[in-house]
Amino acid sequence: MKMKMKKEDLLRRWKSDAAVCTRHLLRNLPVFLLLALIGFSAEAKKLKVVTTLSDFASLAATIGGERVEAESLARGYQDPHFVEPKPSFVLKLHDADLLVVAGLELEIGYLPPLLDQSRNERIRPTGNGYLDASVGCEILEKPTVVVTRAMGDVHPYGNPHYWLDPKNGLVIARAIAAKLTALDAAGADAFRKNLAAFEARLAEAEKRWQEKLGAYAGTKVVTYHASWPNFAKYFKLDVVGYLEPKPGIPPTPQHKLEIVNLMRAQKVPLILMEVYFDRKDPDFVASKTGAEVVVMPPSVGGEPAAKDYISLFDDNVDKLAASLAKRKS
Ligand SMILES: [Zn+2]
Repeated sequence: MKMKMKKEDLLRRWKSDAAVCTRHLLRNLPVFLLLALIGFSAEAKKLKVVTTLSDFASLAATIGGERVEAESLARGYQDPHFVEPKPSFVLKLHDADLLVVAGLELEIGYLPPLLDQSRNERIRPTGNGYLDASVGCEILEKPTVVVTRAMGDVHPYGNPHYWLDPKNGLVIARAIAAKLTALDAAGADAFRKNLAAFEARLAEAEKRWQEKLGAYAGTKVVTYHASWPNFAKYFKLDVVGYLEPKPGIPPTPQHKLEIVNLMRAQKVPLILMEVYFDRKDPDFVASKTGAEVVVMPPSVGGEPAAKDYISLFDDNVDKLAASLAKRKS
């Protein structure tokens, strides 16, 4: 009996609570709706930045902060020359306010048809929502004669992996800040502050990298693809050869033997390879020369540790320093 009463009591109380709750909700409905609307419009005002490379997306997110939504088409563990186009890319491009590309024909294999299908005039090279990140950067290996992709070279306008020099990273970050400011004047202060914070972080990081790799200046290396000339110049490494006979052409048996001979003659201790190639050829050459293979992410997200533009370098510097320290001892 006592139990029953308690149950009814509880039920009555629950009903009364529910009624109060509903009344409260109805009374405050306009406020809730207004809040939802404000939240929604703040969300909707975010600039949509689409980049081809994860490195540019990282920089755009760092500079844009709360005011942008940055997304990259290529993943950091994919070969940036050969990105498989997906239907979702067309939708992303359709909605984009800003497109950041590497240029120098890095994206020629997949981007032009996607841009056509996106029907978004703003992000075409003629639109105000287009940024070619190579402008103002130091571009190495610019050909002195006309080179075309028909000749099998995927670097016809110079080396497109220029983001792997932090000095170029600074140029790109500043160009992104200027572009975001042009598209969203109300964010000017925020972008300026975020850029200044990034510049300070980068300056600190450069000291750290110098401490770790400075002692190894002049080290000779062979790389799989020519992804690292800017990285090597900055860190004073000497790239003496490539496993690919030409950028984009897989190693041939003849070329591998030439590289083995060259590495033996010049006592090259390291083979740097990008995360997206097969280890078979580098391992073969290493077994013939006693060199060590160091697998490095060339882009943000290429490995979990490379989570943004600065930690990408931290990760690569640590890998190189660990390998070189081991050889020294
Ligand atoms: Zn390349």
